[in-house]
Amino acid sequence: MNHETNLTAGHYVVELYRKLHMIPEKAFQEYETAKLVAAEMVRLGLEVKTGIAGTGVIGTLTTAKPGPVIALRADMDALCFVRNKKEEMIHACGHDAHSAMVLGAAKILVADPPECGSVLFLFQPSEERQDGSRQVIATGELDFVDEMVGIHVRPADELPAGQATPALLHGAVQIIKAEIRGENAHGARPHLGVNALEASVLAVNAVNMLHFDPKVYHSLKVTRLLVEGDTYNLIPDKAELHIDVRAQTNTLMHDMTEKISRAISRSAAALEAETIIETVDFTPAAEYNEGLVQTAAGAIRHVMGSSRPPLLTPGAEDFHFYATYLKMKTAYIGLGAGVTPGLHHPDFKLEQDQLIKGSMILATIVKERLKN
Ligand SMILES: [Zn+2]
Ligand SMILES: [Zn+2]
Repeated sequence: MNHETNLTAGHYVVELYRKLHMIPEKAFQEYETAKLVAAEMVRLGLEVKTGIAGTGVIGTLTTAKPGPVIALRADMDALCFVRNKKEEMIHACGHDAHSAMVLGAAKILVADPPECGSVLFLFQPSEERQDGSRQVIATGELDFVDEMVGIHVRPADELPAGQATPALLHGAVQIIKAEIRGENAHGARPHLGVNALEASVLAVNAVNMLHFDPKVYHSLKVTRLLVEGDTYNLIPDKAELHIDVRAQTNTLMHDMTEKISRAISRSAAALEAETIIETVDFTPAAEYNEGLVQTAAGAIRHVMGSSRPPLLTPGAEDFHFYATYLKMKTAYIGLGAGVTPGLHHPDFKLEQDQLIKGSMILATIVKERLKN
């Protein structure tokens, strides 16, 4: 990459960021965003496919020599806020920045292509709802991808502007939903029924007494308890319990889910209530490929002078379904871009001149991985 290319790409990334920032759209309704990124990639001379899982777009840069396929992934959706009783879409998670950075990497790589293999530029719909990546996976368009790299801008207090990590360690999340079934009875004859509310309370206490390895970040919170009926002199026969579970590793998430489910069913059974337990909204934790993370760290050092160690973040990312389902090697860059007041804040702001660094890091990783 020469200085000239970087300078042109720098202006390009900021200009695109500003354009994308003006068209924030809902999950799976990223029509204008998709149109813009597709048009840009056509202009760059890439082969472009639109309509991937609805609004997704994939651009491909193929070299003359066979080699691995590496994908750079951006997300496209914005967030909905209610201000003055009106719904307003805002790019408050930086997905416009991610799309601009991946387009910037495409521009750099078109000017200075890798030696072999091919590069996919993936613009994924609906990250915030955690269902976009699975729908993209279902199209089969990524079946032949060997490696994938994602990137996310970080708040200033998490990672100072001008610094980057090659491995943002997202945790796993899952909601455990338990339906507790008892038996109705008159309030004066509780011994003839099975109180679903009492069984729920017992289950909540049991769950809160479970302990897991304190060295691995985790949390469990009862977030909802619904008891059916509006009659207060009746023994309730049905309740629903929701537990939000977070774990830094997939192994711990598995262990927590099993023990929580058992604690609920056994404590309910102690009062003769029955339980139906299901898990919903699972998103896996980050499981990166060490070699790819090393390459990413090298690219960060090349662009920024130094690289930060892997960074733990409690949030979830639907990016990790790519590794789970398609068994590809992944890495995920955290880029310090001076985000204030924070992610998912309606007044979200970032330092635009940091974005070119993201593009350069992504392009450098591709060049390094696709060497003859
Ligand atoms: Zn977000
Ligand atoms: Zn995000």
